[in-house]
Amino acid sequence: MKTGYLIDMDGVIYRENQLIPGAVDFVDALLSTGTPFLFLTNNSAPTGEDLTVRLKHLGITGLGPKHFYTSAMNTADFLAEIHPNCTAFVVGEGGLLAALHERKIANDAIHPNYVVVGEGAATTEKLTKAHELIEKGARLVATNPDNWCPVSSEKTRPGAGAIASYLEASTGRRAYYLGKPNGYMFHRARVRLTETALNSAEQVAMIGDTMETDIRGAVEAGLLAYLVLTGSTKLEDVGDYVYQPTRILHSVAELVEEVKTGQPAPFADSPFFTHAKNGAHKHGNRHQTDILALHKPRPRPAMTK
Ligand SMILES: [Mg+2]
Repeated sequence: MKTGYLIDMDGVIYRENQLIPGAVDFVDALLSTGTPFLFLTNNSAPTGEDLTVRLKHLGITGLGPKHFYTSAMNTADFLAEIHPNCTAFVVGEGGLLAALHERKIANDAIHPNYVVVGEGAATTEKLTKAHELIEKGARLVATNPDNWCPVSSEKTRPGAGAIASYLEASTGRRAYYLGKPNGYMFHRARVRLTETALNSAEQVAMIGDTMETDIRGAVEAGLLAYLVLTGSTKLEDVGDYVYQPTRILHSVAELVEEVKTGQPAPFADSPFFTHAKNGAHKHGNRHQTDILALHKPRPRPAMTK
């Protein structure tokens, strides 16, 4: 069965400007076999061109802007669909401004229909202006619900969700959040995958490292959900969640042969089975509802709303 892939980037392809071993071979296999794929990121700051250059510098060539779909593009698609010719006041970086421009959504600092919040670029002046415009009737939309984003294994930075929370608190209005895990992100990514792919895929797998966004969104959108352990999720924490991945992989390196041959790699090789055999995997400690998980340290607020 022909599988198409939606692929998260941070924690799947690279981490801290370091490629994850096997990532080059994986992307080469996708390109050489004509397998439909699209990189899917909640980072609203870069454009498709920026991401193409970034991956080229890291050592992945053969990609172009059409291979990327960001939460900024998803927000622009959403607004263009539900409210053609709307206007927006933007608190965000170049990738968000470019995506809105491409969908003909004008910048408006006088009487916008929407205040659109992405990550970065939030100054006190901009937030004050955004607050005033929301008070005057503009609706609040955020590119994604991530409160924080990983910078390195020890460092994080504030995300679009945290900036939207500021405006939610000051205005008493709730934001609407695009990006992963919103089903609209997966819906539009799937449409784009079909539009740009030479071969249409019979099934689509989302590959990601974060349970709250990648895996949750994929499960809710009815896609296959492949969790890789090269990023934010440790195997022993998977059981904490109500939703579960279809498959758990050490890294994308495990998919190279599968993409080349079209034959699925044996599922029994999954780290889940090895871990379960050792008795280390506990079912039932599922978060949000299960008091048994409370012994785990919570060093940060939840990654998303
Ligand atoms: Mg990630």
